[in-house]
Amino acid sequence: MRTRPAPASCSISGTGEHSPEAIAQALVGLIDRVQTESHLNLQPLRLIQVTANLGEAANFWNRALGLPETGVSQQPEGVVAGKHMSWGTSKESARSIIILPDYVAAAIALDAPAATATLIHELGHVHDDFARGLTRGFRPYQTPPHLNDWPGLCSYIAEEMTWSEYAAESIAAGYYTPEELASFERNDGSHLAGVHTRLRQSICKFLQGQVDFASLWSGSVTNLSDLFANLGRAAAHLPFAENQGEARGRLVSPDSEAVCWRSVVERLVGELRTLREKDYSEWGPAPFGRLAEVVVLGFEAAGFFPAYNGNNLHVKVR
Ligand SMILES: [Zn+2]
Repeated sequence: MRTRPAPASCSISGTGEHSPEAIAQALVGLIDRVQTESHLNLQPLRLIQVTANLGEAANFWNRALGLPETGVSQQPEGVVAGKHMSWGTSKESARSIIILPDYVAAAIALDAPAATATLIHELGHVHDDFARGLTRGFRPYQTPPHLNDWPGLCSYIAEEMTWSEYAAESIAAGYYTPEELASFERNDGSHLAGVHTRLRQSICKFLQGQVDFASLWSGSVTNLSDLFANLGRAAAHLPFAENQGEARGRLVSPDSEAVCWRSVVERLVGELRTLREKDYSEWGPAPFGRLAEVVVLGFEAAGFFPAYNGNNLHVKVR
């Protein structure tokens, strides 16, 4: 027997030549298929909203939930084309919605693998948010901690960025074509090298007195958070590579500008795999502690050495 509360509704606007009914049918059909194939628990899912304006739709929900209007972040590697939001403080009150751009929904109706994987990634988030809530207790909607809260930042990046993206993409990864996976593999290495190079440039500017620390730190925390999210997704692609060892090596090649990230990426992949090999219920009290240590190593690889005394954060930069 499978639990199948398909979303209560699909809200669809602006899908061009496709009828809203055809799109809704394709989305519901895909959800049915994924629930069977990947055993997802989508109990909290209530709505899939298809829209021409993802940012506006996200802000509508942010306002409704009393959250800051953050819109959607633009991912340079272009992987994230949908958005999910989960809230609620108990098994019964847990709710999730998914917002999809109209062109992604139209492409799902045409069976395009990348679009299909996009929705499955968001469904993966719904499943993972709910499973973590059941295991770790449901907490209020997680927004990024204050920039001075170093332990909070590390746990947030470890759990809400790295793990969350890894878990969702681990479910989606099997739905990409080999060509798409190969192109991710090329992009992920250059994304890491690109972010690292830009971080080093901002550090240089800071050391030359061209920018102040506050702007260096806030920009770098954003960039490193995005980088860890992408490394989480990259780690999820590895089991689908023809040769996993080689694929992992290509993520940080010996001639890469980001070669100092090599051991960080190795540990990151190992920690994520260890967590995923266990059922959520077997995780223990502090499952993301070791992953948060890897986040610290990542900041150090970029040139940031934070010291936190419980009140104040002091960051050495070099
Ligand atoms: Zn995601």
